[in-house]
Amino acid sequence: MPTEPSVVATLSLGGNEGDVTGAFRLALKRLASTPGVEVVARSGVWRTPPWGKTDQPDFLNMAAALRTRLSARGLLDLCQDIEREGGRQRHERWGPRTLDIDIITFGDAHVDEPDLVVPHPRAAERAFVLAPLAEIAPDARIGGARVADLLTRLGAGEATPLGPLPPD
Ligand code: ATP
Ligand code: CA
Ligand code: CA
Repeated sequence: MPTEPSVVATLSLGGNEGDVTGAFRLALKRLASTPGVEVVARSGVWRTPPWGKTDQPDFLNMAAALRTRLSARGLLDLCQDIEREGGRQRHERWGPRTLDIDIITFGDAHVDEPDLVVPHPRAAERAFVLAPLAEIAPDARIGGARVADLLTRLGAGEATPLGPLPPD
């Protein structure tokens, strides 16, 4: 039972295989229907070049903000359940996938555990995370810096806004 005080958390969603916008829609529905989770904002969808491993198709990315009573770990478990339901197969790291959900911030909490690091340690160097996130949480902080300022510093590069998530 989620019993902790509520926190605003931000998530980054991405995928480059199969029906990615369908996977985003399902993920948001699942999040919104989870007790102790309210989806308070969602960004538009962005098309972004692959990062880390570049010989693969472009990604679609979006961000969501939640108000939640889950713990950070409870939220990670939920996100991983949703990834599995979205048909995600774990292939190689940073490789093609239908749906990846990362926790970017969890209130102003800092978590540093082997399988959970928050704020997400690579978010500040990723336009595909910052550009969507800046639409809905420009004042959220990653490593002491505002998301909007991090994006200004990094630049959006080839990240392209495609507009709101299309309906079913
Ligand atoms: P990256 O973390 O660089 O974006 P990735 O998303 O491709 O890489 P995954 O294979 O999805 O990596 O996840 C690897 C592990 O990262 C997960 O099993 C999870 O335990 C861990 N992890 C650590 N911190 C986080 C976080 N903030 N959000 C989601 N997963 C995290
Ligand atoms: Ca990721
Ligand atoms: Ca991930």
